Amino acid sequence: MKKRVVVQKYGGSSVKDADRIKAVAERICSYKNKNVNIAVVVSAMADTTDDLIELAGKIAQDPTDREMDLLLASGEQISSSLLAMAVRERGVESVALTGFQAGFLTDKAHGKARVQEIDGKRIKRAFKEGKVVIVAGFQGMTAEGEITTLGRGGSDLSAVALAKAINADVCEIYTDVTGIYTTDPRKVTDARKLKEITFDEMLEMASLGAQVMQPRSIEVAKRFNIPLHVRSSYSKEEGTMIVKSTQKIEDIAVRGVTSNKGEAKITICAVPDKPGVSAKIFNAVAKAGVNVDVIVQNVSHTKKTDISFTVPKTELVKGMAATRAIAQKLGAGDVLEDKNIARVSIVGSGMRSHQGIAAKMFDALAKASVNIEMIATSEISISCIIALDKADEAVKALHKAFALDKAK
Ligand code: ASP
Ligand code: MG
Repeated sequence: MKKRVVVQKYGGSSVKDADRIKAVAERICSYKNKNVNIAVVVSAMADTTDDLIELAGKIAQDPTDREMDLLLASGEQISSSLLAMAVRERGVESVALTGFQAGFLTDKAHGKARVQEIDGKRIKRAFKEGKVVIVAGFQGMTAEGEITTLGRGGSDLSAVALAKAINADVCEIYTDVTGIYTTDPRKVTDARKLKEITFDEMLEMASLGAQVMQPRSIEVAKRFNIPLHVRSSYSKEEGTMIVKSTQKIEDIAVRGVTSNKGEAKITICAVPDKPGVSAKIFNAVAKAGVNVDVIVQNVSHTKKTDISFTVPKTELVKGMAATRAIAQKLGAGDVLEDKNIARVSIVGSGMRSHQGIAAKMFDALAKASVNIEMIATSEISISCIIALDKADEAVKALHKAFALDKAK
């Protein structure tokens, strides 16, 4: 009989101390029997990665990417080895592997490496020996033998990529919340846990501010159609399935509301309105390595127009410098910054086939006296840039307006 293959990923909060590591080990052992092979991917304990970054910052102004990766990869090696010990302590054979030992081959982009291939041989051998395999997440190795990391939150990606490589029947993502909610349950008390959500919706929610899973990992799951089960490591409760699509899902216009307070707005005043100007501005900003998001440019009646765009707050200084320089070259006016903005978004695959969703959103915001500064849409989302101090209120109003508190 073919054994079931399960990949389980435990996030940093699920293994934050010795007691939690023991609890996770209990859970793994309760799943393990003769008919199932389990590969576990684990994140670094709690805030280990942040702490290591801070520590490096105290020691060097500009550490090499290579040494940073070597340093950060150690966090997951600690948690994986401890977890393997805890599993073994409970009478189940287990082996901890670093990303490299588990066969994760990546490109050379330190700090944001891409997984190119996973050689599952060593894991399969361990399965044959009846062992639970515990893999250090977030890391791999280049063909030249350099240790790399996969970007923040990268253990999710490790888990999904591994699930693909070893043909897992299911990939479970264990976290400290019980699943994906219609909105952040810490902020809106009647947020509801979703039974299912599509890859596209989850991708959109994640990039618009929902912080449950790393977006890149969802892209990979989507590409290979690997269903994900997001659930809590603190309870046996069923979580949320992330899947390709279902009939029911398509019927629902709006599935969730998100907010993102991590962006800032740059405005260039009085930009000469002639061909090629926008290209010059955004080329200059891109060259500075700044990610631009929402862009608004008005029609001009005076041969000059204002252009506003948002950038991550962390890139505002770089963005302002690049924008000021190009504005001067183009003979534009002042360049202004605004850190006090937030983005609120509604997301749902059903938007493709429902009308009037945008109108309903703007209505709800108007009723809550929220002024809309910019608007951006995708096929399955609508975002508004609003004042930062209105963000939580706006989310509540939208959640209610689309009846997300009511079971569907
Ligand atoms: N420890 C890494 C981070 O905090 C990877 C992860 O948690 O998935 O970003
Ligand atoms: Mg983490």
